[in-house]
Amino acid sequence: MPDQENRDEQERPAPRFVVIGAGMAGILSAIKLQEAGLTDFTVYEKADRLGGTWRENTYPGVGCDVPSHLYRYSFAPNPDWSHLFSPGAEILAYLEEVADRHGIMDTIRFGHEIVRCDFEGGRWAIETADGATDTADFVIAATGVLHHPAYPHIDGLDSFTGAVFHSARWDHTVPTEGRRIGIIGTGSSAVQIVSALVDSVGELALFQRTAQWIFPQENSQFSEEDRARFRADPQLLQSMHEGLSRTFADHFANAVVNAESPEMQAIEQLCLFNLESNVEDPGLRERLRPTYRAACKRLVVSPDFYQAIQRPNAHLVTEEIDRIEPQGIRTRDGVLHELDVIVLATGFRVDRFLRPMQVTGRNGVSLDAVWEKRPSAYLSISIPEFPNLFMLNGPNGPVGNFSLIEVAELQFAYIMQLVELALSGQCREISATTEALGRFDEERAEAAKRTVWMTGCSSWYLDDRGVPAAWPWNFDRFREVMAAPDLDDYELA
Ligand code: NAP
Repeated sequence: MPDQENRDEQERPAPRFVVIGAGMAGILSAIKLQEAGLTDFTVYEKADRLGGTWRENTYPGVGCDVPSHLYRYSFAPNPDWSHLFSPGAEILAYLEEVADRHGIMDTIRFGHEIVRCDFEGGRWAIETADGATDTADFVIAATGVLHHPAYPHIDGLDSFTGAVFHSARWDHTVPTEGRRIGIIGTGSSAVQIVSALVDSVGELALFQRTAQWIFPQENSQFSEEDRARFRADPQLLQSMHEGLSRTFADHFANAVVNAESPEMQAIEQLCLFNLESNVEDPGLRERLRPTYRAACKRLVVSPDFYQAIQRPNAHLVTEEIDRIEPQGIRTRDGVLHELDVIVLATGFRVDRFLRPMQVTGRNGVSLDAVWEKRPSAYLSISIPEFPNLFMLNGPNGPVGNFSLIEVAELQFAYIMQLVELALSGQCREISATTEALGRFDEERAEAAKRTVWMTGCSSWYLDDRGVPAAWPWNFDRFREVMAAPDLDDYELA
């Protein structure tokens, strides 16, 4: 029946896609859809510029602690990275350049926030904040993970008369030079800010609730000669990528999912050595010493944090914060730390994903209800009863320990295999089965017991039950699983 098949093919209307978000994963989706000839799509972006995390995080010292030669699209290797770990602005410029070079800028509708997605009559009905509507056969949600700032509940926060802002909402109109800066939090963002600011501010007070292990990774610069060699020899660039990829996987990403591994012990010893050998004052050293295992919280990487916090104008405050007053932060010991600027480096709400969007699947089932306890998705991609909606870097994926660009590329290729089933007429609707998601959740929770994230600390990895929400296996397993969907785990309708 080849003639009939050809006719079916010709008669089937071209599928329409809506991509939500023009960050790293949304850009990837647009490029890949275009490459596949699936050109009927729109990327909706609520901001006026692409870049996601790298648009939003502009704090002093912002950078990525995944090596730049790993944190890049496989189809757009970049010989021009300035550093082993390049600054945020450079990553943003890279994303803009790649999007531009691949001709997808015109597919992005900037300033349009999607507020509703409803699965009705076999298609997705989409609504934006300004009341515009659209429809799609497939929705690809590239909405990010560390995206919604978590604001602390501290009495008097609104009463402060100086400037106060979250690390991901840096107010560049506020001068910091020579002034008194207070930073709340000691995660990766705070540590980068401390190192970047300490030499220019007047006084810097770091409010630490929990001490962090610091992995002392140097950030080497690539010389102009290095970059010229990478430009001239793509094979050299590829070898660099492969070497870094193996090292990063073996010595970090795969180590954290096996708390007893020798590689995990090596990380701990290096962190301990860093603390012992670089913090001179025994009192300060003890206040900086965590009481849990290294990498239990997301490991903080910094070559110079300990030097920064020992500068004469830097103060580590370990007394608990009592309240914020017009003049500064008052700690429980009654001391008022007078400040001009307060930076809330207090992290992100990691359970949001598609939300606050209102999303309803088959029979009007709402995502808020399905995710009432906690978000979860089969292999981080698909939610039962929400057909033809696929997430990149959704819940339960390998976040925090891998190059999220590589993760998104693997996920996108997997999603395209699902889409292909619909395009070839094998089904109209596809979503993971409830059984598959249940099994995945159980296996994930069991595997998580071996990870270092469950060795006794609180962190953003843990869900409301204290179970790590992140992918608890190694990266090779993720690659294998992403190679091809197991169709027994999907409902094809
Ligand atoms: P984070 O790791 O979640 O750290 C938040 C910090 O704020 C913690 O020290 C936390 O203390 C503290 N905190 C929260 N609420 C508080 C309160 N009410 N009072 C006092 N302290 C409070 O957030 P982040 O530093 O923004 O980093 C988030 C993730 O983004 C990182 O883990 C990493 O995956 C990624 N990131 C990466 C880079 C990089 O590549 N270099 C840079 C920035 C961010 P407790 O520990 O006591 O909860």
